Amino acid sequence: DIRVRFAPSPTGPLHIGGVRTALFNYLFAKQHNGTFVLRIEDTDQNRYVPGAEDYIKEALDWCSITFDEGPGKDGGFGPYRQSERKHLYKQYADQLIKDGYAYFAFDTAEALDNHRKDHEAKGKTFIYNWHNREKLTNSLSLSEDEVAAKINSGESYVIRFKSPKDEILHLTDEIRGDISIDTNILDDKILFKSDGMPTYHLANIVDDHLMQITHVIRGEEWLPSLALHVLLYRSFGWEAPSFAHLPLILKPVGKGKLSKRDGDKMGFPVFPLQWVDPKTQSISSGYREDGYLPEAVVNMLAFLGWNPGTEQELFSLQELIKEFDLKRVNKAGAKFDPEKTKWFQQQQLQKIDSTILSQQFETILSEKNISTTLDLNVIINTIKERATFTKDFWSLSHFYFLSPSEYDEKAIKKAWKSDTPGLMHELTRILNDISDFSEDNVSAIVKGWITGKEIGFGKVMMPLRIALVGSLQGPDLFQIASMIGKKETIKRIENAIE
Ligand code: GLU
Repeated sequence: DIRVRFAPSPTGPLHIGGVRTALFNYLFAKQHNGTFVLRIEDTDQNRYVPGAEDYIKEALDWCSITFDEGPGKDGGFGPYRQSERKHLYKQYADQLIKDGYAYFAFDTAEALDNHRKDHEAKGKTFIYNWHNREKLTNSLSLSEDEVAAKINSGESYVIRFKSPKDEILHLTDEIRGDISIDTNILDDKILFKSDGMPTYHLANIVDDHLMQITHVIRGEEWLPSLALHVLLYRSFGWEAPSFAHLPLILKPVGKGKLSKRDGDKMGFPVFPLQWVDPKTQSISSGYREDGYLPEAVVNMLAFLGWNPGTEQELFSLQELIKEFDLKRVNKAGAKFDPEKTKWFQQQQLQKIDSTILSQQFETILSEKNISTTLDLNVIINTIKERATFTKDFWSLSHFYFLSPSEYDEKAIKKAWKSDTPGLMHELTRILNDISDFSEDNVSAIVKGWITGKEIGFGKVMMPLRIALVGSLQGPDLFQIASMIGKKETIKRIENAIE
């Protein structure tokens, strides 16, 4: 059975990189009828941010990336918050010590700092591993009695992994293929801290093992930890899961990783939901509040590092579950493109059920105190192709509900000539005589009249558009006229001539 997990640390809002990791895990799980686990990695108490876990859950929920197991949804592998599993980890650190894969280290931060400086002075880099281990204060360099005395006297210690010497590790990544690592460059990472908490590395491996995770799909920033993780599995005598490291998400312009700041600076969201910093109260914008559909965000995220190998760009979550393939995920960084995200939004908006759009449109209208008997579905179908967000509906359709309060200067200059008032006057008389005010009939009669006069269509149509809409924009004029009705059409023309 396939089991994957998304394991965020609640250190702040989830950004799109995190949501993409969650999405790819979810898609992989669902297409294999597997289980998607949410695990909260909150062992680093200094970096814990209140509200972050709720934010993560709400963001996943908004995207319809639902977890099968996680906090509040026990599937027999809980608890799913590492802080609630605290008691579990020490025994595993002890086991590694007993088996010779880890050791106690008593070095103070100050002592380590001095070693670092000494090395630097000689143009070298200090690594805490077999290079220096023997010269430092730990259970490998001290006698058993010395170690016992230190521990008994309450001296604070950490537990470090004893990385092997002179070995070439052969690692496999589902996306990157085979990777070889010389263990001599690895440092003896801390597994267990003086505060009695495991570090990320230990807790992550123990939990992935206990939760029977089969595939670890996570961001590229964890690739440097892969060697240690594989060594930990080996030292425990556990079978390691498969690993897949997803490519970096790059800034839209320039080089480097997309950061939270890029969004704020360049005016696009990098968060699924708005985030209010609990310390500074500063607000970072979110896709949801900016009017994006979750369908658009999910579609955009899927293409950050993956493509179907066909021309198809529009996918629903269900289609993604079918088509997604870990083998088609790229190694190269994926450039984030805010304009393309808008395009996905515009395209996904077209697919939204019209009753849902009508409801949202009604809310917009009622906020503007507009009540109408017009068929909103007809209006939405007329304008939605040009809308990116539902909030665009009003600027694309106000003329169905209100007569223009002002006329576009440029349009007037272009289209309002000395003979315009006369033509418009004549037009009102023609319109007044029409009894069937349907779009087709009005169109046929007015066009026939223009043709008979042997003048250009623009001479009538442009001023008429200004009169009805206020500018030279908008959908078919006769559709507008027919929708607002004869009386209102004539009134607007008269208003414009005055
Ligand atoms: N807690 C880690 C993070 O915040 C999880 C990394 C992993 O998936 O192994 O990204």
